[in-house]
Order: sequence, then structure tokens, then C-alpha cells
Amino acid sequence: MDDAPVTVRVAPELVFLLRPRDRPARERRLGHDADATVGHVVQAAGVPLTEAGGLRLDGVPTVVGARPGPGSVVAVAAVPRPQPVPRGGFLLDVGLGTLARRLRLLGLDAAWSNDADDADLAARAAAEERVLLTQDRGLLMRRGVGGALVRGSRPDDQLADVLDRFAPSLAPLTRCTACGGRLEAVPTAEVADRLPPGTRRTFDEFSRCVACAHVYWHGAHARRIEALVARHR
Ligand SMILES: [Zn+2]
Repeated sequence: MDDAPVTVRVAPELVFLLRPRDRPARERRLGHDADATVGHVVQAAGVPLTEAGGLRLDGVPTVVGARPGPGSVVAVAAVPRPQPVPRGGFLLDVGLGTLARRLRLLGLDAAWSNDADDADLAARAAAEERVLLTQDRGLLMRRGVGGALVRGSRPDDQLADVLDRFAPSLAPLTRCTACGGRLEAVPTAEVADRLPPGTRRTFDEFSRCVACAHVYWHGAHARRIEALVARHR
């Protein structure tokens, strides 16, 4: 039995992270390696530690640094939801620009840039105490990266996943969707010359981004947001 494989068994919510052939049984068998920790084998099975909740080794609660023996079973629970909202807010991976704009629309602090590489993202998340939202498992498996794997390929599904996972309090219409800056109310007279014809007559509440000066009129903005928020109540 000395070379018996280690079995990693995952909660139903994590099955999609396994190889297709391992999904029916919800487990992955890996050759025993005396140097491998629980954390190593969980990630080798395809589950970033950011997605792992409670861990058990042969039925007993354990920690990532423990070492499975030959024939051990490592059971992986999903992260309990909701997770606390990170102090510094969110940082979104390059491919999640649409999700970033939607989070901002709901008033959440969602940093995003279209040209950050993996090292930039990891460093910024750590420096600003943000949680990194990504669909890249390899990035989440980097040492020291605190993040969350976003489920769903459509932005609507991704938004639903993030709101379900963190249950943040929403403050619609308080942030710029372009840059994430705070919005401040602005008198119509101050922005009248920058508005398209017809806007001034139709909408009477305006706000401006303190960071990039983009002007929003709440008629159009508010209808979009109400529809978005209504879907997540
Ligand atoms: Zn802005």
C-alpha cells in the first residue's frame, strides 16, 4: 500500500474544476508524493486554494501544510458564501472589463485596466488589499494571491456569481463606470454646454466623476441600474 494514490474528493460546487473524466466520481487520484502537502494535491487536482473552504484529511479537519500519506483521502469543501467583502475592494483581471463596469454601476470599488499582466495584478491586489477577480486558475494558484474564481461566461452570470459570493452592500449611481471614481452631484447649469441636445430638457439630475469629469444624467443611467439591481434582489 506504500504507493497507493492520494484521492482528492471535492464538494459538488467544485466539480467543474476537475477534469471531465473525474467529474462523475467527484474525485481525482494522484500519485503519492511524500513531499506534497494538502495544498499541493488540492491544486494539482485543479482547485485553486482560493476556492477551497474546509479541508479534511482522512476525515479529520486539516490545514494546507499537512502531508497526506499513501492512500489518504483529502476532502475539499467550497468556500462558504457570503465571504467578507475585501477591505480594499475588487481588482478585475484584464478579460473582465464588462463585469468591472457593472460592479461600478452598483457602486462597488472595482479596479480594472486592460493591460495588466499577471505579476502586476498580483502585486496590486496585495498592495491595495483588493480581492482579485479572475477566470484564470493559474493566476489564483500563484503563491500569495488572494482572489476568487469568477463563474460564468456571460457578464450577467459573472455579476450574479460575485454578488452571491460576497453579498456586498450596493450603492447604485455613486461611481463612474468608466474609471471607478466617485460621482458628485452637479448643478445643471455647470454641465449644460456639454450635454447632447434634448438631454437638458429631459433629465434634471446630473453627476460628475471627481476623477475623470465624465458627466452622467440620471434618467438614462437610473433605468439601467434599476433593472440590474432588480435582478439581484
Ligand atoms: Zn471617471
